[in-house]
Amino acid sequence: MKKLLSFAAMATFSLHLNAAAPLFTPQQLEHVATIRDNAMQSPLAFDILTSLTTEVGPRLPGTANDKLAVKWAQDKFASLGFDKVWLEPANFPEWRRYSESGSILTPSLQPLHLTALGNSISTPKDGITAQVIKFETLEELIAAPDDIAKDKIVYINYRMNRDIDGNGYGPAVQARNSGAVEAAKKGAIGYMMRSVSTSHHRFAHTGGSHYKDGVTKIPTVAIANPDADQVARLIDLGKTVSVNINVQAESLGQGSGFNVIGQFNGTDSPEQYVLIGGHLDSWDLGTGALDDGAGVALSMASAKFVSDVKRPKRSVRVVLFAAEELGLWGAKDYAAAHKADLNNIVAAAESDFGADVVYAFESNVSAQSLPIVREIAKQLAPLNIEYIGKNKAGGGPDLIPLKGAGSIPVFDLHQDGTDYFDYHHTADDTLDKVDPAKLQQNAAAYAIFAFMAADAPFAITGK
Ligand SMILES: [Zn+2]
Repeated sequence: MKKLLSFAAMATFSLHLNAAAPLFTPQQLEHVATIRDNAMQSPLAFDILTSLTTEVGPRLPGTANDKLAVKWAQDKFASLGFDKVWLEPANFPEWRRYSESGSILTPSLQPLHLTALGNSISTPKDGITAQVIKFETLEELIAAPDDIAKDKIVYINYRMNRDIDGNGYGPAVQARNSGAVEAAKKGAIGYMMRSVSTSHHRFAHTGGSHYKDGVTKIPTVAIANPDADQVARLIDLGKTVSVNINVQAESLGQGSGFNVIGQFNGTDSPEQYVLIGGHLDSWDLGTGALDDGAGVALSMASAKFVSDVKRPKRSVRVVLFAAEELGLWGAKDYAAAHKADLNNIVAAAESDFGADVVYAFESNVSAQSLPIVREIAKQLAPLNIEYIGKNKAGGGPDLIPLKGAGSIPVFDLHQDGTDYFDYHHTADDTLDKVDPAKLQQNAAAYAIFAFMAADAPFAITGK
């Protein structure tokens, strides 16, 4: 593009650039450098994460641990010196897992490492035993004749691919969301899928699943990748494979909890705010270190790093969303509660993709806001973060309801997700999977982003 500009146009262009006042003053950029240096040396984010995952542990919405996490978050915000700490109600359907087990029965007895998907109904107390019918994809199941799976257990063998941006998750997760419904429509008495996973370990990956009114509810589970390989190999050998699946779980109806919010007030326009955060809930199998203790910890720490150096013009608000895993419930309630003043949000980003390094920065904002975005990108570059100029950021799952309610300027601080789906939603999502140095880089990136968006010469707006 630049090569096409005439010499005269280039001269005018550079004159214009020279004449324009810089968007951020040298003093503001000094603050940025100090925030970055402090954050890169501080253990705060990892300390917060250690506290949450050790003292609370798993945080399934509605459980005693969930309530403990709310108290923990309030206390942590207060001890970090946030100006305002408050709760907003969140409503969600509660579900509990009590026990789960499985075996391959024929052609030979073998253990089956499985986990129930969220919302699954129970099997009878001795489980269900049936022949397995295999499909490679959800689409293949949907296209199959009615009654093809009558009295059988449907198995979907689809394997997600590994990539830095987690693009394999979307196609794989459809079989988790609606596989049980499609299987029941074909007459199945149970649903089993290869875990949405990139790992070689023998942990099964749980995750949200949904039933549909008018379609019979059947028990729904995921099996670990090595077990999935085993089942597929046996069926491909032409063997009749039957399994026993035993799930004891319960839906408890409507429950409630809280989004926990902490804010450092801005000096000039405190009603306007940068929203950063993560979700406080987690699945019950691990301790939710990667998903999403890391997002909780790094957003709390980064707001503190900003406030320690310079209070920006606008507020920095950390929102810890409730019940994300069961269906973005806390985020839906936040969007509804703040519908009337969504234009106070000058930037929003949620970290919910583990704790590996941030490698790219992307916006989704109005055209007139882009010069500020480019200045932020320049200050993130020393952290090895590249700028993606497509201006199509998604902002994180809990921002979906907010984006639906209004025009919000959202940002992605893209994390390296190459290994994320090795641990995601498993018993293996524990603190030891988090590298403190990488978490520091995340917190530094969020701190720089939050400070610059909150202290920018004019408010960033959405598209
Ligand atoms: Zn998450």
